[in-house]
Amino acid sequence: MLAEIKGLNEECGVFAIWGHEKAAEMTYYGLHALQHRGQEGAGIVTTDGEKLHTHKGVGLINDVFSTGEVSRLQGHAAIGHVRYATQGGGGFENVQPLVFRSQTTSMALAHNGNLVNAHALKSQLEAQGSILQTTSDTEVIAHLVKRSGNVPMEDAISSALSMIKGAYAFSILTEDQLFIGLDPRGLRPLSIGRLGDAYVVASETCAFDLIGATYEREVKPGELIIIDENGFRTKQFTSPLERTLCSMEYVYFSRPDSDLNEKNVHASRKTMGKQLAIESKVEADVVTGVPDSSISAAIGFSEEAGIPYELGLIKNRYVGRTFIQPSQELREQGVKMKLSAVRGIVEGKRVVMVDDSIVRGTTSRRIVRLLKEAGATEVHVRIASPPIQNPCYYGIDTSTTGELIAANHSIEEMREIIGADSLSFLSTEGLEASIVEGRDRQQHGVCQACFTGNYPTEIYPDTVIPAYKE
Ligand code: SF4
Repeated sequence: MLAEIKGLNEECGVFAIWGHEKAAEMTYYGLHALQHRGQEGAGIVTTDGEKLHTHKGVGLINDVFSTGEVSRLQGHAAIGHVRYATQGGGGFENVQPLVFRSQTTSMALAHNGNLVNAHALKSQLEAQGSILQTTSDTEVIAHLVKRSGNVPMEDAISSALSMIKGAYAFSILTEDQLFIGLDPRGLRPLSIGRLGDAYVVASETCAFDLIGATYEREVKPGELIIIDENGFRTKQFTSPLERTLCSMEYVYFSRPDSDLNEKNVHASRKTMGKQLAIESKVEADVVTGVPDSSISAAIGFSEEAGIPYELGLIKNRYVGRTFIQPSQELREQGVKMKLSAVRGIVEGKRVVMVDDSIVRGTTSRRIVRLLKEAGATEVHVRIASPPIQNPCYYGIDTSTTGELIAANHSIEEMREIIGADSLSFLSTEGLEASIVEGRDRQQHGVCQACFTGNYPTEIYPDTVIPAYKE
């Protein structure tokens, strides 16, 4: 499904490279592959060994780097970032990487995730005299690092990491070092690759493919990687806990050509579709998936159910993004502009419509109507994830509980609201099995908190759910 019409949004994508003469250019291309993770701002910071060079701005990569800025970013190492804007935080000052300059060492920081104790840390920092310039959690990390005083950067970062809690995958670039880190549960994805002699790091492996890099391994939960003129070294800043990588990355956010924690996203989605067909059989003539992220699950469903897969819905490209349109009515029109039902495929047919998730239900209702208007005699909605009943505190916008249809209605009520002939969801066991598939949970487990309410970290009364703009 399209992020902007569903109401689910990934917060960020990070990319880093060390030891390449075209570091900025490689980062630019890497960020292109991660553009789906955030379209509101982009930035690159490079180092030439003596000085950091920065360019960033609000908008898509192509808009931000439209007039030769990439060639002006000198250096052999770079970090880059794409972000989705939070409410009140969409301005230029929050576009990452954030750069902090001092007389000794400057530092650029890019981060994906959300800190569950950011509020308490901000209050603490302000009480101690720090002046925070942005609303971003990233700045909190930077202040904690700076507060350690005149100690080696590696120790300052380790000390900062011992204070923050939640989900974070980050890169920090100084004039002469690159640091990469992942939270103790590995809630967000982060992989390491090689491009010749250079090291590359990205939120998703699709960024490696685009620049011709080869995948090496995952960044481990609780790991801090240091790359500098002495090479690559690594340490655990804390003992790794059982891995709880975000299952929504597999369901919806990540690109199907990416491998997350050594599991391909398309293959996982296909298995989810198969499992869904096992769990909720239905008599029908065709299976169709809501483009783009539901196609893999729809193919799996079709294979398992023995019902032909058809392109019953197609996406209209080049339509303006829905979330900039203010009203519900206009949002619904946006959906109509973006998706079309193929009359020749669905007319007179009983259709299984596979989608990856339901957030508010508005989009599902609109798509069911599209299919019926195009002549489908029955529309059976099959969702390749469990009902989303809880907010996410880890950097994904799943909306607030009040907006989540599954938090406020039974499945039968939801079926009626969206106008489907039947509605079923994948079970939490089925989702976990589709991703983990007999692998060791300690290393390959997933977070399902927005479905189950079992959060893998502490949640504090003042933990802020990122409030995203509509
Ligand atoms: S709560 Fe849901 S969206 Fe958030 S990290 Fe966990 S699985 Fe992902």
